[in-house]
Amino acid sequence: MKIKKRIVSRQEHLVSRDAISDNALKVLYRLKDAGYQAYLVGGGVRDLLLGEKPKDFDVATDAHPDEVKGLFRNCRLIGRRFRLAHILYGRDVIEVATFRGPHEGESTTRADQNKEGRITRDNVFGSLEEDALRRDFSINALYYNIRDDSIVDFTGGMDDLQHKMIRMIGDTQTRYREDPVRMLRAVRFAAKLNFQMEHQTNNLIFELGDLLEDIPVARLFDETLKMFQGGYGLRCFQLLREYRLFELLFPMTEASINLSQDDHSATLQLIEQALINTDARIATGKSVNPAFFLAVLLWHPMHEYKHRFIERGQHEMEALLSASREVIIRQQAHTSIPKRLSLMMREIWHMQPQLQHPTRKRALRTLANKRFRAGYDFLLLRNKVDEPELTPLCEWWTEIQTKKISEQEAMCESLTRPQKKSGKRKRRRRKKTVTHHADVSSANVGSSE
Ligand code: ATP
Ligand code: MG
Repeated sequence: MKIKKRIVSRQEHLVSRDAISDNALKVLYRLKDAGYQAYLVGGGVRDLLLGEKPKDFDVATDAHPDEVKGLFRNCRLIGRRFRLAHILYGRDVIEVATFRGPHEGESTTRADQNKEGRITRDNVFGSLEEDALRRDFSINALYYNIRDDSIVDFTGGMDDLQHKMIRMIGDTQTRYREDPVRMLRAVRFAAKLNFQMEHQTNNLIFELGDLLEDIPVARLFDETLKMFQGGYGLRCFQLLREYRLFELLFPMTEASINLSQDDHSATLQLIEQALINTDARIATGKSVNPAFFLAVLLWHPMHEYKHRFIERGQHEMEALLSASREVIIRQQAHTSIPKRLSLMMREIWHMQPQLQHPTRKRALRTLANKRFRAGYDFLLLRNKVDEPELTPLCEWWTEIQTKKISEQEAMCESLTRPQKKSGKRKRRRRKKTVTHHADVSSANVGSSE
């Protein structure tokens, strides 16, 4: 790769100090005043140049981690793969990384690679230029120099930003092999920034996607969250499917989508609607619960297992419990799911029959459940997407939340005479079970079996 260092002076770019957070500035100044080099780098610079508000600020320096620690009382050293300094200001964290060097060449401590070319340890210090070359995409390798407010560009990142282009630095094939997660990152930035990928950066994903199967599932889970909880989840999901990467992360979900012969897969619609809602919530600064979206992703696969358990003679609720467990265990072979979230997913699923069949005795308990809100939102989503028959129930649950306790009790009391209602319900349920059996017999869920 031909390296041509370009320095873009303060007069030639639009990044002003005012747009950089006070905490990031404090870190940059302190490093500079102690005689070290200090640059803002990565997504922070990229987003500022695009006129966007950065999610976080990363700093690169020639100070070694221990030297950084010596300068800041509020510093924690973290990371095994990369040793990084975190400077903590309450909940705001400024990440400070020492320039990293090449994986091969003169360094005495070479980064370790496995036989596929994947880097398994990468803690070799280097120069600013070397640091730029080991970053992923040119638009992520721009350095804002706190000394003179210039931007240093070794890889053509300024031009690529202007042309809305995601271009891997160096030999694309080698770089994807070193770290296959870069494929997910390419997709994520294409979705987030609405950029195109350069030809090779684009095409090699189809060839090398399978390498993601060797990545630790915990890392894949982290990337998954970034993709779906970044405010551009719908676009990410669509691109992941186009690049055939989604099927590597969520094979059961992909199989469930493909069960449908036409474009009206209920699984697909549920996911897309959930992502539309998630993106809208994030756009208005509301929080999102990752367990909710995971529950959406695996809802239909879970159901397919449930029907199998029913076929094997389990009762509806027992089958639901077994299927929830089964589907989560299977998914964890592809992306890990922290216990806290898998518990929440199960609670959301298990609440669905309670919400669908409120009884005089149980309805108030369901309402008081700490996951009620998530379970109720899930019911509304199902209703909106492809279960119009749930409308009266959704309205009932919506109404009861607006009432005083005495009125809520009255609403529960009037849940008709239990005898008649449960009889009716049983008939309906039995009928539904029969249809499910029919569905399952023609279904091919076996991708992961
Ligand atoms: P975001 O807006 O999502 O934070 P970002 O570009 O800041 O985007 P980070 O994951 O925060 O992404 O990483 C910070 C920087 O570290 C990147 O801009 C890139 O220069 C470098 N980087 C991160 N992950 C990799 C990787 N897998 N390979 C090479 N460089 C990477
Ligand atoms: Mg970042």
